[in-house]
Amino acid sequence: MHTGLKVLLVEDQQDIAANIWDYLERRSYNIDHAADGESGLSRALKGDLDVIVLDLGLPRLDGLDLCRRLRAAGHGIPVLMLTARDTLDDKLRGFAEGADDYMVKPFSMRELEARIQAVYRRGRPATDAPLRVGDLTYDPKSMLATRAGQTRALTRVQGILLATLMREAPNVIAHRRLIEAAWSDEGGGGAALQTHMYELRLLLDKPFDYAMLQSVRGLGYRLVAAP
Ligand code: CA
Repeated sequence: MHTGLKVLLVEDQQDIAANIWDYLERRSYNIDHAADGESGLSRALKGDLDVIVLDLGLPRLDGLDLCRRLRAAGHGIPVLMLTARDTLDDKLRGFAEGADDYMVKPFSMRELEARIQAVYRRGRPATDAPLRVGDLTYDPKSMLATRAGQTRALTRVQGILLATLMREAPNVIAHRRLIEAAWSDEGGGGAALQTHMYELRLLLDKPFDYAMLQSVRGLGYRLVAAP
């Protein structure tokens, strides 16, 4: 049993959130609570957590979207998904978006604790492991990108955009998907994406004889290993 785990609980239903909070706090977990998806995501992106307990149906941003954006940002923290919808379809979707385990309401607090312990033990070390495409590597933890021996520090948004492109290289990633991954709330749009991509190209491609980061007119961007 791991004690003192830091758990972020993202649950909009107050009675359920209060029950979970009370139980886990008595069992000496450190609990943070968010009552909607957007505040849950911004708390999750700050890091310094051991496990996220995430309700599927949330106001402002649902659990699957939250999970997808968290993974796109390179966060490998274990996620235990809660749902009232007992369907196989939702379960499979939850795992596809990067959830580690899944519980159907109602459940006992003892079972919840056992699952929290299990996902924490298993961890998700692969998700924020360094990425490589051709002679380019990117480490989401340090936010350092290295191409052919030249290392650059990226901003948070640049890192999210690059990691998203690298995970699916050489596929084209739609503008809309990149915007969703990089900006969890308002403030991102086509113009912002263009600006950040321009900066990324200056950092990664300018000194070299071919551009890895390519714009595909009307569709999105892709990252290629060779010209
Ligand atoms: Ca809910």
